[in-house]
Amino acid sequence: MFERYSRQTVITEIGIEGQKKLGNSCAALIGCGALGTVIASALVRAGVGKVKIVDRDFIEFHNLQRQILFDENDVRQNLPKAIAAERHLMAVNSDIIVQGIVSDVNYTNIENLVKDANVILDGTDNLETRFLINDVSLKLKIPWVYGGAIDTVGMTMTIIPYETPCFRCIIPGEVYGAKGLTCETAGVISSAPWITASLQTAEALKILVGSEKINRDLIDFDVWGNRFKRLKLSGRNSDCPACGQGRLDFLDGRFTTRTTQLCGQNSVQVLAPGRQEISFENLAERLRSAGKVEYNEFMFRFLADSREMIIFRDGRAIVKDTDDEVYAKAFYTKYVGT
Ligand SMILES: [Zn+2]
Repeated sequence: MFERYSRQTVITEIGIEGQKKLGNSCAALIGCGALGTVIASALVRAGVGKVKIVDRDFIEFHNLQRQILFDENDVRQNLPKAIAAERHLMAVNSDIIVQGIVSDVNYTNIENLVKDANVILDGTDNLETRFLINDVSLKLKIPWVYGGAIDTVGMTMTIIPYETPCFRCIIPGEVYGAKGLTCETAGVISSAPWITASLQTAEALKILVGSEKINRDLIDFDVWGNRFKRLKLSGRNSDCPACGQGRLDFLDGRFTTRTTQLCGQNSVQVLAPGRQEISFENLAERLRSAGKVEYNEFMFRFLADSREMIIFRDGRAIVKDTDDEVYAKAFYTKYVGT
């Protein structure tokens, strides 16, 4: 069974023992876009025993430029990213468990999603979710690997709870709502997330085999500007609200929004925490007279008032072609209800 992994067990720091550790490990990946597809693919191929892939989106044509696990067929089938990733990766390695979970990660569910993980990987595109991952990592003492990429630049850092600086030691949480760059306005060239994701994967493997060589710096690069930098981090910040003072604001739901603009999509997501699972059959009955209805096992598409909305079974929805969060919430409330 180790023939499959012979090229990596030859590496002294991994060896047969390390490979066994990988096989007994679980990695939770939050977000399966440009970063996540590379990370998921690498972890599955490396033989990590269980890889959980959590993502809220479905696949669109403009994803194919950089999200390596997906193809045109997935777009035509309206597949959620987590499901398509699971299907493709189960065909790559049947020795391990690949679990695709279609869900928005938020303060009500993150603990449950990552509690069995030995490492958490950041494949998200927003600061709010990263602060949430940071909080849960501190609470459950699970290391995580931050990664971010946009335009031609990428950045990564590894967080070992209460040992290295946490994400909030570096970035104050209060700024999370500030509108930053998005993939839509700044664009993204595939090399930037791919390099970032490869570095994140190496960190995850080091953590899982118990290597001493974990990266303790902030790595920052620009593939177009030919810049590769390591920024030395000056230890943990004793004033850090999270790892210093034990305030897990994001996990406690103190900073939670019910609507979010989706990076690069000109769409708004509406969240309905605590909502019971929606029956698409019943919803179709209800909405057929109000507009155009179309659904499959995973998603429900509704068109009305020249507006498109995608609804998922957990009650979450994406209102397309708008960045107006108030309008999106009103549109959702009008047709799906609260
Ligand atoms: Zn901290």
